[in-house]
Amino acid sequence: MEYKKLCELYNTLESTTKRLEKTAILADFLSGLKDKNAENIILLLQGRVFPLWDKSTLGISSNLVIKVLQNVTGKSKKEIETLWKKFGDLGDVAEQLCQKKSQKTLVSSSLTAENVFNNLQKISELEGKGTVEKKLSLIAELLAHSSGIEAKYIIRTILEDLRVGTGEGVVREAIVWSCFPRVKDINDEGKNYSNALKLEEFDEKKIKEIDIKKYDLIESNEPRELYKYFVELVQSAYNVQNDFGALFKILREKGLEGLSDVKITLFHPLKCMLYQKADGVDDGFERVGRPAALEYKYDGFRLQMVKQKNKIALFTRRFEDVTAQFQDVVEYVKDNITGDNFIMEAEAVGYDPKTHNYLPFQKISQRIKRKYNIKELAEKFPVKINVFDCMYMNGMSVIDRPFKERREIIENNINKNPHITPSEILVTDDNKKAEEFYQKSLKSGNEGIMMKNLSAIYKPGSRVGFGVKIKPIMETLDLVILEAEWGEGKRKGWLSSFTLGCKDGDNFSVVGKVSTGVKEKEEEGEELTYKEFTERLKPLIIKESGKTVAVKPKVIIEVAYEEIQKSPSYSSGYALRFPRVIRFRDDKSIDEVSSLSMIKKFYNEQK
Ligand code: AMP
Repeated sequence: MEYKKLCELYNTLESTTKRLEKTAILADFLSGLKDKNAENIILLLQGRVFPLWDKSTLGISSNLVIKVLQNVTGKSKKEIETLWKKFGDLGDVAEQLCQKKSQKTLVSSSLTAENVFNNLQKISELEGKGTVEKKLSLIAELLAHSSGIEAKYIIRTILEDLRVGTGEGVVREAIVWSCFPRVKDINDEGKNYSNALKLEEFDEKKIKEIDIKKYDLIESNEPRELYKYFVELVQSAYNVQNDFGALFKILREKGLEGLSDVKITLFHPLKCMLYQKADGVDDGFERVGRPAALEYKYDGFRLQMVKQKNKIALFTRRFEDVTAQFQDVVEYVKDNITGDNFIMEAEAVGYDPKTHNYLPFQKISQRIKRKYNIKELAEKFPVKINVFDCMYMNGMSVIDRPFKERREIIENNINKNPHITPSEILVTDDNKKAEEFYQKSLKSGNEGIMMKNLSAIYKPGSRVGFGVKIKPIMETLDLVILEAEWGEGKRKGWLSSFTLGCKDGDNFSVVGKVSTGVKEKEEEGEELTYKEFTERLKPLIIKESGKTVAVKPKVIIEVAYEEIQKSPSYSSGYALRFPRVIRFRDDKSIDEVSSLSMIKKFYNEQK
């Protein structure tokens, strides 16, 4: 396929903000997509060259893009940076520059989607000496053959910032629209299709046997349910496989039968099941039933541990492969978990090797990204592995088995040892015992507890409420904005990412940055928009360097957060985990900004 055709689609998609319209545009495109490499085109459509489970990256910075643009267009760094500031998007800069260039040289574009895809994949495979130069030349080669619009989307794809609104939901639904028959109410009049199927009742077994390639229409007595069911089938398969391109191909070639064959592939990490929040154990029991399994909620990070024969790999919940960083864990798994092949899920918690006390998350978080001196860091910050779920064991997916069976698999396959254990558990129907367990967990330095439904399956990627988390409620803080950054893309022209200060004597100390909770668009009566923040902060700017501005400390906002952590990165020595703006506190004066001693107090109380 010509790359130009794809770019035209990007443009059409970008021209509407309406989700339904985007879905229709995309579905229309997919219906006509006969390309033998359709799966690659579907990746490009999402601004990717790798499926979600594959964490390979292109590793191209804005600076490198500026360099390529210098080489290809002959413009100076300064000229490009000025344009960048003007447009707020390097893709738009590339479009502008390459348009002029191609008009001058009369380049007729012959770029194919496959050219782009291959060059970008090659970039990620480069290693060692001269990598930067090779990357530059692979991108330059593409740009040299690009028209303006092509350059724009190449650059956006490279910077992993496509922004045409082809998120998971839109792509999923466009696949349903383009691969499944249309659905219509059995009682409605309408166009007659020669190849229509009548479904008198909603019967999952029968639905799964439908040959979707054979029919253009299904007439159903429950059309909405049926459509939702199709969407759910695609989503469930996606949660296991994490690749819409591959799913599209399966649906096209094998229909629904192929979808039910989508199996867990070892070493392609699957999405984690997520947990909802509950307010205390009473609420917990109400939501997951009685009796329930209560477990310690450890404060570390989630690891998917995969083994097949002698190969062991570890993935984070965002699918990053951290096997190299956690060779100690690999050894624990090898030595202490039986089973030829499996996928288990655990919380890795750091501890002090001397006192054996748990360490706050950010100490071990250094280990996740570490590329050098891995062994020293592992010795300094060892981890204990608490296994809390199992999705695959000895050649079989167990995600459809009830939790209590999965827990038995865990218990039966972990040998007693100090490094890796099944998570601490209590099965009870008694509120008092549950409350005691919760308090015991907090006293042992954990975040709270989890409560889990004993007969629930494992549903990858869903926050279905088969399990809930319970943590002590956090108080909010009132903090003052000290700095902000000029946004890019959709946030161009607006200040975004606000640096927060708490009161530290007569001064302010930084406790982190926030942008969550701030809205892109104005909704009725809504004041928490980037526009509003910008209008309030702009007159207060005292210094500008690059994209960052310092402002007079006047705007106070209330901020919620999940937790306070110690942090060497900020001048207060603390950081907020997952901060979120609640509202402006115009009613508060600068003297009333939360103090550092208050933050210290909250930090100590949460332990
Ligand atoms: P949260 O991050 O607050 O949404 O809480 C859910 C996270 O708690 C999971 O993603 C796990 O990383 C972590 N966690 C700690 N202990 C457990 C446990 N026993 N069962 C499930 N998740 C746990």
